[in-house]
Amino acid sequence: MPIIKHNMSHLPLGDHKNAPWYGKDILSVGQFGREDLEYIFAVSHEMHDMVDHIGTFDLLKGKILANLFYEPSTRTSSSFTAAMERLGGSVIPINEVKYSSISKGESLADTVRTLECYADVIVLRHPEIGSAAIAAKAARKPVINAGDGIGEHPTQALLDLFTIVEELGYVDGLTVTMLGDLKYGRTVHSLARLLSLFDVRIRYVAPEILRMPPEIMAELEAKGLPQAEHVTLESILPETDVLYVTRVQKERFEDQAEYESVKGAYVITPEVMRAAKERMIVMHPLPRVGEISPEFDEDPRAAYFRQMEYGLYVRMALLAMVLGKS
Ligand code: ASP
Repeated sequence: MPIIKHNMSHLPLGDHKNAPWYGKDILSVGQFGREDLEYIFAVSHEMHDMVDHIGTFDLLKGKILANLFYEPSTRTSSSFTAAMERLGGSVIPINEVKYSSISKGESLADTVRTLECYADVIVLRHPEIGSAAIAAKAARKPVINAGDGIGEHPTQALLDLFTIVEELGYVDGLTVTMLGDLKYGRTVHSLARLLSLFDVRIRYVAPEILRMPPEIMAELEAKGLPQAEHVTLESILPETDVLYVTRVQKERFEDQAEYESVKGAYVITPEVMRAAKERMIVMHPLPRVGEISPEFDEDPRAAYFRQMEYGLYVRMALLAMVLGKS
């Protein structure tokens, strides 16, 4: 089944209050089925075309996004800002929580209730699992989870899957290998769950102490998804269609000596990639801190910089959808 229908138009001029995603929170990839993905990717594709043709357009003129980040971010925060501004809307950025009332001890619920007085949608990144759900419960306006600790990062998973579709053209039948910190990496938690909607094989390559959490593997097992764990990449690389590399999440370790013992466990270099297929892609949610050597960047299979750009279009689509413009 094609995941993008190019002959549809998804950008009505008026408000679309009966649209399926109008006013909804985006908290977890568990909210999406394959039809939703088809829709989101079709809108994202149109956003890409619009940006290519006219750069900025006023679909969300007059709408305001509160971008509330309790944890560091470069790509997620700036791509949501760019997405809103490319659609003619504006942004209240709260990146430096130390300069806001949060540093006075304000609760997340109260901060969110405050921001929704001024904004139409709230994007939240927070260090605790479940924080986005707490915020969504407190808020009347849509809340978008931009990463809740080691929990989920649903908009990243959507842009990751969109990257796979745009780069390889299909998802069913692929072998996806996730490499690195699968325990603390929230992007792989969300992506693995999202991939369980498809007929894919997932391979996990991680040091013993950073294995994919058993509850996520059990969830995928229950859906009949073929999964296997490996300690080294060599045996699995030749059959891999998507190599998803992750950073060891230093900030999540209680024992820094433990971090030091695993930090350089895998490094992707042009030499390592000689064993991989010619038509495959290497992805990374970024930032990278040594897992992929810069010498590999010029290889056409290095998709991680293109992946960031796809994120802009997916986030434009999501904002338009929850604000009733698509
Ligand atoms: N940027 C991604 C995240 O926020 C990946 C990472 O930080 O390693 O989860």
